[in-house]
Amino acid sequence: MTALLTNMLCLEHQMMPRHPERPARLTAVLEHLGATGLMAELDVREAPLAERQALLRVHDAAYLDALERLTPQQGLVQLEPDTFMGRRSLLAARAVAGAALAGVDVVLDGAERRVFCAVRPPGHHAEESAAMGFCLLNGIAVAATHALSQPVIDRVAILDFDVHHGNGTVAAFMDNPAALVCSCFQFPHYPYRLQDVDRPHIVNTPLPAGTKGAAFRRAVERDWLPALDAFQPQLILVSAGFDAHAADPLGELLLDEDDFRWVTQLVVAAAKQHAGGRVVSVLEGGYDLAALARCVHIHIEELAA
Ligand SMILES: [Zn+2]
Repeated sequence: MTALLTNMLCLEHQMMPRHPERPARLTAVLEHLGATGLMAELDVREAPLAERQALLRVHDAAYLDALERLTPQQGLVQLEPDTFMGRRSLLAARAVAGAALAGVDVVLDGAERRVFCAVRPPGHHAEESAAMGFCLLNGIAVAATHALSQPVIDRVAILDFDVHHGNGTVAAFMDNPAALVCSCFQFPHYPYRLQDVDRPHIVNTPLPAGTKGAAFRRAVERDWLPALDAFQPQLILVSAGFDAHAADPLGELLLDEDDFRWVTQLVVAAAKQHAGGRVVSVLEGGYDLAALARCVHIHIEELAA
């Protein structure tokens, strides 16, 4: 069985009215999984809140203190041009990181082989001491460092197919070759930083606006498969963004449902080959509600295969 981790606190983080990173994203995903019957086939668990100790493996203490100090009693505070925080936002972000952490524990304990974390806000832009691009805490990086702190895990791969480059994840592991970070993304495009880091364990696959599925698949096969074969990860984490879908308002790549099915099959095959089948996938972007819901459904179907 595949586990689904979520927490209703993730619905309590709101930015401005009509902001694309909105609670309705998660509602759309959960309602679709319920309506199609897939939810009933999953091991659904409530995600815990990440504790400070786990967050400190990625974020610095002064930054975590600042997020607490800046949390408003009402209304919103602006942390940077794209990122706002309300009264419950930090709890939501801690639930995201907590889901990813608990997901790692679920697969390392052997309770399940695959986990999907249905959570928001996204996290892969958040750096050690900076919120960025709708992200407060970098859940995927926190989960990877947690996995690497376990005696049985020496190598973790992070695969990121969000339309935006995961600069925060790259920053977290730039000098730590225990993590292989493979990221495909629209280029040039936000976040305009750390997109050309050239190291054996940082694999960047830039894709021009207008890229369709066939070219996306060729590029991912060319760049990710040799890297995964050489690295032989013991666990695979996924920054699962669905904003590279053709219908997405924030990206200009032209992927469709079949492309997300294909890339998930690639992830699961690599996990079965190298990592005992262990995959923890965490929702990042995806801003067209209908496309997001359909793609998450397909992603979980293939995780469960
Ligand atoms: Zn994105």
